[in-house]
Amino acid sequence: MRSVAVLGATGSIGRQTLEVADHLGISVVGIAARRGSEELLDIALRRPGVSVAVAAPTGAERDHFEAALGARVAFGPEALVEMASIPGVTVLNGVVGSAGLPASVAALDAGNRLALANKESLVAGGPVLLAALARGGGELVPVDSEHSALHQCLVGEERAGVRRVVLTASGGPFRGMSPSELEQVTVEQALDHPTWKMGPRITVDSATLMNKAFEVIEAHHLFGFAYDAIEVVVHPESIVHALVEFADGSLKAHLGEPDMRTPIQYALTMPDRPAGLVGRFPLEGRSLTFEPPDTAAFPCLALGYKAGRLGASAPTALNAADEIAVNAFLDRKIGFSSIPLVIERTLADVEIRPLESVDDVMAADREARAIASGHLGASC
Ligand code: MG
Repeated sequence: MRSVAVLGATGSIGRQTLEVADHLGISVVGIAARRGSEELLDIALRRPGVSVAVAAPTGAERDHFEAALGARVAFGPEALVEMASIPGVTVLNGVVGSAGLPASVAALDAGNRLALANKESLVAGGPVLLAALARGGGELVPVDSEHSALHQCLVGEERAGVRRVVLTASGGPFRGMSPSELEQVTVEQALDHPTWKMGPRITVDSATLMNKAFEVIEAHHLFGFAYDAIEVVVHPESIVHALVEFADGSLKAHLGEPDMRTPIQYALTMPDRPAGLVGRFPLEGRSLTFEPPDTAAFPCLALGYKAGRLGASAPTALNAADEIAVNAFLDRKIGFSSIPLVIERTLADVEIRPLESVDDVMAADREARAIASGHLGASC
Protein backbone atom coordinates (compact mmCIF):
# COMPACT_ATOMS: atom_id res chain seq x y z
CA MET A 1 0.00 0.00 0.00
CA ARG A 2 1.15 3.50 -0.77
CA SER A 3 2.32 5.81 1.98
CA VAL A 4 0.03 8.65 2.98
CA ALA A 5 0.32 12.38 3.65
CA VAL A 6 -2.39 13.59 6.04
CA LEU A 7 -3.45 17.21 5.54
CA GLY A 8 -5.60 18.46 8.39
CA ALA A 9 -3.97 15.91 10.71
CA THR A 10 -5.43 17.32 13.93
CA GLY A 11 -9.03 17.47 12.68
CA SER A 12 -11.62 14.74 13.12
CA ILE A 13 -10.91 13.08 9.74
CA GLY A 14 -7.14 13.52 10.10
CA ARG A 15 -7.03 11.84 13.52
CA GLN A 16 -9.11 8.93 12.29
CA THR A 17 -6.87 8.61 9.21
CA LEU A 18 -3.78 8.30 11.43
CA GLU A 19 -5.60 5.62 13.41
CA VAL A 20 -6.50 3.71 10.21
CA ALA A 21 -2.97 4.09 8.81
CA ASP A 22 -1.45 2.71 12.03
CA HIS A 23 -3.92 -0.17 12.03
CA LEU A 24 -3.04 -1.10 8.44
CA GLY A 25 0.69 -0.45 8.76
CA ILE A 26 0.58 2.28 6.10
CA SER A 27 3.53 4.62 6.43
CA VAL A 28 2.69 8.28 7.15
CA VAL A 29 5.22 10.48 5.32
CA GLY A 30 3.69 13.86 6.08
CA ILE A 31 1.29 15.61 8.43
CA ALA A 32 -0.04 19.12 7.97
CA ALA A 33 -2.35 21.48 9.80
CA ARG A 34 -3.30 25.12 9.76
CA ARG A 35 -1.88 25.90 13.18
CA GLY A 36 1.16 24.71 15.10
CA SER A 37 -0.74 23.12 17.97
CA GLU A 38 0.73 20.95 20.75
CA GLU A 39 -1.31 18.07 19.34
CA LEU A 40 0.40 18.40 15.95
CA LEU A 41 3.80 18.54 17.62
CA ASP A 42 2.97 15.44 19.69
CA ILE A 43 2.05 13.51 16.55
CA ALA A 44 5.28 14.66 14.86
CA LEU A 45 7.44 13.68 17.84
CA ARG A 46 5.88 10.20 17.97
CA ARG A 47 6.70 9.70 14.26
CA PRO A 48 10.42 10.42 13.83
CA GLY A 49 10.59 10.33 10.01
CA VAL A 50 7.50 12.35 9.24
CA SER A 51 7.58 15.75 7.47
CA VAL A 52 5.45 18.49 9.02
CA ALA A 53 3.75 21.45 7.35
CA VAL A 54 2.06 24.29 9.24
CA ALA A 55 0.02 26.57 6.98
CA ALA A 56 -0.57 29.57 9.25
CA PRO A 57 1.63 29.46 12.38
CA THR A 58 2.01 32.30 14.85
CA GLY A 59 5.56 33.56 15.39
CA ALA A 60 5.77 31.67 18.69
CA GLU A 61 4.52 28.42 17.10
CA ARG A 62 7.10 28.77 14.36
CA ASP A 63 9.97 29.12 16.85
CA HIS A 64 8.64 26.29 18.99
CA PHE A 65 8.26 23.89 16.04
CA GLU A 66 11.64 24.80 14.55
CA ALA A 67 13.37 24.17 17.88
CA ALA A 68 11.62 20.79 18.30
CA LEU A 69 11.68 19.49 14.71
CA GLY A 70 14.48 21.33 12.89
CA ALA A 71 14.49 20.74 9.13
CA ARG A 72 11.49 18.41 9.32
CA VAL A 73 9.04 21.32 9.48
CA ALA A 74 8.03 23.82 6.76
CA PHE A 75 5.68 26.79 7.06
CA GLY A 76 3.11 28.61 4.95
CA PRO A 77 0.32 27.47 2.59
CA GLU A 78 2.94 26.48 -0.01
CA ALA A 79 4.30 23.87 2.45
CA LEU A 80 0.97 22.01 2.15
CA VAL A 81 1.12 22.21 -1.64
CA GLU A 82 4.66 20.77 -1.56
CA MET A 83 3.58 17.95 0.71
CA ALA A 84 0.65 17.12 -1.58
CA SER A 85 3.09 16.93 -4.51
CA ILE A 86 5.38 14.24 -3.02
CA PRO A 87 5.45 11.67 -5.86
CA GLY A 88 3.59 8.41 -5.35
CA VAL A 89 1.81 9.17 -2.07
CA THR A 90 -1.87 9.09 -1.28
CA VAL A 91 -2.88 12.57 -0.14
CA LEU A 92 -5.65 12.54 2.44
CA ASN A 93 -7.02 16.07 2.38
CA GLY A 94 -9.00 16.70 5.56
CA VAL A 95 -8.29 20.44 5.67
CA VAL A 96 -11.36 22.50 6.56
CA GLY A 97 -12.34 25.31 4.20
CA SER A 98 -11.25 26.63 0.83
CA ALA A 99 -7.63 26.65 2.07
CA GLY A 100 -7.69 22.95 1.10
CA LEU A 101 -8.14 23.59 -2.63
CA PRO A 102 -4.52 24.39 -3.69
CA ALA A 103 -3.25 21.16 -2.07
CA SER A 104 -5.99 19.11 -3.77
CA VAL A 105 -5.06 20.57 -7.16
CA ALA A 106 -1.36 19.95 -6.45
CA ALA A 107 -1.99 16.31 -5.51
CA LEU A 108 -3.84 15.63 -8.78
CA ASP A 109 -1.32 17.62 -10.82
CA ALA A 110 1.40 15.37 -9.37
CA GLY A 111 -0.57 12.29 -10.47
CA ASN A 112 -1.23 11.21 -6.88
CA ARG A 113 -4.27 9.57 -5.39
CA LEU A 114 -6.31 12.28 -3.67
CA ALA A 115 -8.44 10.88 -0.86
CA LEU A 116 -10.74 13.86 -0.63
CA ALA A 117 -12.43 14.91 2.61
CA ASN A 118 -12.16 18.66 1.94
CA LYS A 119 -15.61 19.56 0.63
CA GLU A 120 -14.58 22.98 -0.64
CA SER A 121 -12.23 21.46 -3.21
CA LEU A 122 -15.22 20.15 -5.17
CA VAL A 123 -18.01 22.46 -4.02
CA ALA A 124 -16.13 25.75 -4.45
CA GLY A 125 -13.53 24.67 -6.99
CA GLY A 126 -15.14 21.78 -8.89
CA PRO A 127 -14.21 22.81 -12.46
CA VAL A 128 -10.61 23.62 -11.39
CA LEU A 129 -10.18 20.31 -9.57
CA LEU A 130 -11.58 18.29 -12.49
CA ALA A 131 -9.18 20.08 -14.85
CA ALA A 132 -6.26 19.08 -12.59
CA LEU A 133 -7.51 15.49 -12.58
CA ALA A 134 -7.58 15.40 -16.37
CA ARG A 135 -4.19 17.15 -16.64
CA GLY A 136 -2.19 15.26 -14.03
CA GLY A 137 -3.64 11.78 -14.43
CA GLY A 138 -4.11 11.42 -10.67
CA GLU A 139 -6.91 9.58 -8.96
CA LEU A 140 -9.79 11.21 -7.10
CA VAL A 141 -11.33 9.02 -4.38
CA PRO A 142 -14.01 10.43 -2.08
CA VAL A 143 -13.78 10.00 1.69
CA ASP A 144 -17.22 11.35 2.54
CA SER A 145 -19.43 8.39 3.48
CA GLU A 146 -22.14 9.05 0.88
CA HIS A 147 -19.72 9.46 -2.03
CA SER A 148 -17.62 6.51 -0.95
CA ALA A 149 -20.88 4.54 -0.94
CA LEU A 150 -21.81 5.76 -4.44
CA HIS A 151 -18.30 4.96 -5.68
CA GLN A 152 -18.65 1.42 -4.35
CA CYS A 153 -22.17 0.96 -5.80
CA LEU A 154 -20.93 2.11 -9.22
CA VAL A 155 -17.87 -0.15 -9.43
CA GLY A 156 -18.24 -2.29 -12.56
CA GLU A 157 -21.41 -0.51 -13.74
CA GLU A 158 -22.05 1.39 -16.97
CA ARG A 159 -23.16 4.98 -16.32
CA ALA A 160 -25.69 4.71 -19.15
CA GLY A 161 -27.59 2.10 -17.13
CA VAL A 162 -28.08 4.37 -14.11
CA ARG A 163 -31.56 5.82 -13.65
CA ARG A 164 -30.78 7.89 -10.53
CA VAL A 165 -28.44 8.07 -7.58
CA VAL A 166 -29.75 8.75 -4.08
CA LEU A 167 -27.81 10.31 -1.22
CA THR A 168 -29.13 9.68 2.26
CA ALA A 169 -29.39 12.37 4.93
CA SER A 170 -29.84 11.73 8.64
CA GLY A 171 -32.14 14.76 8.72
CA GLY A 172 -30.05 16.24 11.53
CA PRO A 173 -31.22 17.21 15.02
CA PHE A 174 -34.18 19.28 13.78
CA ARG A 175 -35.90 16.71 11.58
CA GLY A 176 -39.68 17.09 11.85
CA MET A 177 -39.58 20.68 13.14
CA SER A 178 -41.75 23.37 11.58
CA PRO A 179 -40.28 26.62 10.21
CA SER A 180 -41.57 28.52 13.29
CA GLU A 181 -39.98 25.99 15.66
CA LEU A 182 -36.70 26.32 13.76
CA GLU A 183 -36.64 30.05 14.48
CA GLN A 184 -36.17 29.26 18.18
CA VAL A 185 -33.39 26.65 18.00
CA THR A 186 -30.11 27.32 19.80
CA VAL A 187 -26.46 26.83 18.90
CA GLU A 188 -26.20 24.02 21.48
CA GLN A 189 -29.14 22.16 19.89
CA ALA A 190 -27.64 22.57 16.40
CA LEU A 191 -24.31 21.15 17.56
CA ASP A 192 -25.92 18.00 18.99
CA HIS A 193 -26.03 15.72 15.92
CA PRO A 194 -27.92 12.44 16.42
CA THR A 195 -25.64 10.00 14.56
CA TRP A 196 -22.35 11.52 13.35
CA LYS A 197 -19.65 13.21 15.47
CA MET A 198 -18.12 16.05 13.40
CA GLY A 199 -16.68 19.57 13.58
CA PRO A 200 -18.98 22.57 14.39
CA ARG A 201 -19.49 23.94 10.86
CA ILE A 202 -20.37 20.61 9.25
CA THR A 203 -22.65 19.81 12.18
CA VAL A 204 -24.61 23.03 11.63
CA ASP A 205 -24.54 22.33 7.87
CA SER A 206 -26.13 18.95 8.64
CA ALA A 207 -28.82 20.64 10.71
CA THR A 208 -29.72 23.03 7.85
CA LEU A 209 -29.31 20.27 5.18
CA MET A 210 -26.69 22.48 3.48
CA ASN A 211 -24.20 19.67 3.99
CA LYS A 212 -26.44 17.48 1.81
CA ALA A 213 -26.69 20.27 -0.77
CA PHE A 214 -22.88 20.34 -0.93
CA GLU A 215 -22.85 16.57 -1.31
CA VAL A 216 -25.25 16.81 -4.27
CA ILE A 217 -22.81 19.20 -5.97
CA GLU A 218 -19.87 16.92 -5.11
CA ALA A 219 -21.72 13.90 -6.53
CA HIS A 220 -22.35 15.82 -9.75
CA HIS A 221 -18.63 16.55 -10.16
CA LEU A 222 -17.34 13.17 -8.95
CA PHE A 223 -19.60 10.95 -11.03
CA GLY A 224 -20.82 13.21 -13.84
CA PHE A 225 -24.55 12.78 -13.25
CA ALA A 226 -26.99 15.57 -14.10
CA TYR A 227 -28.66 17.27 -11.13
CA ASP A 228 -32.03 15.79 -12.13
CA ALA A 229 -30.56 12.31 -11.60
CA ILE A 230 -29.25 13.05 -8.07
CA GLU A 231 -31.78 12.81 -5.27
CA VAL A 232 -31.77 13.11 -1.49
CA VAL A 233 -33.78 10.99 0.92
CA VAL A 234 -33.93 11.35 4.70
CA HIS A 235 -32.83 8.17 6.46
CA PRO A 236 -32.54 8.83 10.20
CA GLU A 237 -30.65 5.60 11.04
CA SER A 238 -27.60 6.61 8.88
CA ILE A 239 -27.04 2.95 7.96
CA VAL A 240 -27.66 3.21 4.19
CA HIS A 241 -25.17 5.81 2.93
CA ALA A 242 -26.26 5.94 -0.72
CA LEU A 243 -28.23 4.02 -3.34
CA VAL A 244 -28.07 3.67 -7.09
CA GLU A 245 -31.16 2.79 -9.10
CA PHE A 246 -30.56 1.22 -12.50
CA ALA A 247 -32.64 1.34 -15.68
CA ASP A 248 -33.78 -2.28 -15.19
CA GLY A 249 -35.37 -1.42 -11.85
CA SER A 250 -32.59 -2.88 -9.68
CA LEU A 251 -31.24 -0.90 -6.74
CA LYS A 252 -27.83 -1.22 -5.12
CA ALA A 253 -27.40 0.26 -1.66
CA HIS A 254 -24.29 0.66 0.45
CA LEU A 255 -24.77 -0.03 4.16
CA GLY A 256 -22.52 0.27 7.16
CA GLU A 257 -22.15 1.68 10.65
CA PRO A 258 -21.90 5.48 10.66
CA ASP A 259 -18.15 5.36 11.32
CA MET A 260 -15.80 7.44 9.14
CA ARG A 261 -12.93 5.00 9.62
CA THR A 262 -14.59 2.70 7.07
CA PRO A 263 -14.71 5.15 4.11
CA ILE A 264 -11.27 6.52 5.10
CA GLN A 265 -9.82 3.03 4.90
CA TYR A 266 -11.53 2.34 1.56
CA ALA A 267 -10.06 5.54 0.09
CA LEU A 268 -6.57 4.48 1.20
CA THR A 269 -6.75 0.83 0.15
CA MET A 270 -9.27 0.48 -2.68
CA PRO A 271 -9.70 -1.79 -4.60
CA ASP A 272 -8.32 -3.93 -1.74
CA ARG A 273 -10.34 -4.52 1.41
CA PRO A 274 -8.06 -5.45 4.30
CA ALA A 275 -9.62 -6.08 7.74
CA GLY A 276 -10.80 -2.79 9.23
CA LEU A 277 -11.31 -1.32 12.68
CA VAL A 278 -15.09 -1.59 12.56
CA GLY A 279 -16.56 -4.88 13.75
CA ARG A 280 -19.37 -7.07 12.43
CA PHE A 281 -22.62 -5.31 11.70
CA PRO A 282 -25.52 -6.69 13.76
CA LEU A 283 -28.52 -6.93 11.42
CA GLU A 284 -30.98 -8.29 13.98
CA GLY A 285 -33.32 -5.68 15.38
CA ARG A 286 -32.21 -3.00 12.90
CA SER A 287 -34.75 -1.24 10.73
CA LEU A 288 -34.35 1.20 7.87
CA THR A 289 -36.77 4.05 7.23
CA PHE A 290 -36.83 6.64 4.44
CA GLU A 291 -38.78 9.87 4.05
CA PRO A 292 -38.63 12.87 1.71
CA PRO A 293 -36.69 15.93 2.92
CA ASP A 294 -38.84 18.83 4.17
CA THR A 295 -37.77 21.43 1.62
CA ALA A 296 -40.04 24.14 3.11
CA ALA A 297 -38.44 23.89 6.57
CA PHE A 298 -34.93 23.38 5.15
CA PRO A 299 -34.52 25.70 2.12
CA CYS A 300 -30.74 25.16 1.94
CA LEU A 301 -31.19 21.96 -0.06
CA ALA A 302 -33.00 23.81 -2.86
CA LEU A 303 -30.39 26.60 -2.75
CA GLY A 304 -27.71 23.95 -3.33
CA TYR A 305 -29.47 22.55 -6.40
CA LYS A 306 -29.98 26.08 -7.69
CA ALA A 307 -26.30 26.99 -7.31
CA GLY A 308 -25.22 23.64 -8.77
CA ARG A 309 -27.36 24.10 -11.86
CA LEU A 310 -26.07 27.67 -12.31
CA GLY A 311 -22.56 26.21 -12.18
CA ALA A 312 -19.28 28.16 -12.61
CA SER A 313 -18.74 30.32 -9.49
CA ALA A 314 -22.30 29.97 -8.10
CA PRO A 315 -21.40 26.97 -5.86
CA THR A 316 -18.29 28.90 -4.74
CA ALA A 317 -20.59 31.71 -3.59
CA LEU A 318 -22.97 29.20 -1.97
CA ASN A 319 -20.14 27.76 0.10
CA ALA A 320 -18.67 31.16 1.03
CA ALA A 321 -22.05 32.60 2.05
CA ASP A 322 -22.82 29.49 4.07
CA GLU A 323 -19.56 29.75 5.98
CA ILE A 324 -20.20 33.41 6.81
CA ALA A 325 -23.79 32.68 7.86
CA VAL A 326 -22.91 29.60 9.94
CA ASN A 327 -20.09 31.43 11.73
CA ALA A 328 -22.50 34.30 12.50
CA PHE A 329 -24.99 31.76 13.88
CA LEU A 330 -22.27 30.09 16.01
CA ASP A 331 -21.29 33.58 17.29
CA ARG A 332 -25.00 34.14 18.13
CA LYS A 333 -25.23 37.11 15.77
CA ILE A 334 -28.04 35.65 13.63
CA GLY A 335 -30.71 33.04 14.22
CA PHE A 336 -30.80 29.56 12.67
CA SER A 337 -33.55 30.52 10.19
CA SER A 338 -31.47 33.45 8.92
CA ILE A 339 -28.76 31.14 7.57
CA PRO A 340 -30.64 30.34 4.31
CA LEU A 341 -31.72 34.00 3.97
CA VAL A 342 -28.12 35.24 3.98
CA ILE A 343 -27.18 32.60 1.40
CA GLU A 344 -30.18 33.27 -0.86
CA ARG A 345 -29.49 37.02 -0.89
CA THR A 346 -25.82 36.46 -1.61
CA LEU A 347 -26.61 34.17 -4.55
CA ALA A 348 -28.99 36.82 -5.90
CA ASP A 349 -26.36 39.60 -5.69
CA VAL A 350 -23.17 37.85 -6.73
CA GLU A 351 -21.81 37.91 -10.26
CA ILE A 352 -21.32 34.39 -11.64
CA ARG A 353 -18.06 33.87 -13.50
CA PRO A 354 -16.22 30.92 -15.05
CA LEU A 355 -13.54 29.26 -12.89
CA GLU A 356 -10.26 28.47 -14.62
CA SER A 357 -7.72 28.64 -11.80
CA VAL A 358 -7.34 28.48 -8.04
CA ASP A 359 -7.03 32.29 -8.12
CA ASP A 360 -10.44 32.55 -9.84
CA VAL A 361 -11.95 30.41 -7.07
CA MET A 362 -10.32 32.48 -4.33
CA ALA A 363 -11.51 35.74 -5.95
CA ALA A 364 -15.10 34.46 -6.24
CA ASP A 365 -14.90 33.21 -2.65
CA ARG A 366 -13.72 36.62 -1.34
CA GLU A 367 -16.38 38.51 -3.29
CA ALA A 368 -19.19 36.27 -1.99
CA ARG A 369 -17.90 36.53 1.59
CA ALA A 370 -18.01 40.33 1.38
CA ILE A 371 -21.56 40.29 -0.02
CA ALA A 372 -22.73 37.73 2.58
CA SER A 373 -21.20 39.75 5.42
CA GLY A 374 -23.21 42.74 4.20
CA HIS A 375 -26.39 40.66 4.57
CA LEU A 376 -25.75 39.82 8.22
CA GLY A 377 -27.20 43.14 9.39
CA ALA A 378 -30.59 44.06 10.80
CA SER A 379 -32.52 42.72 7.77
CA CYS A 380 -31.94 39.18 9.08
MG1 MG B 1 -21.53 13.02 4.33
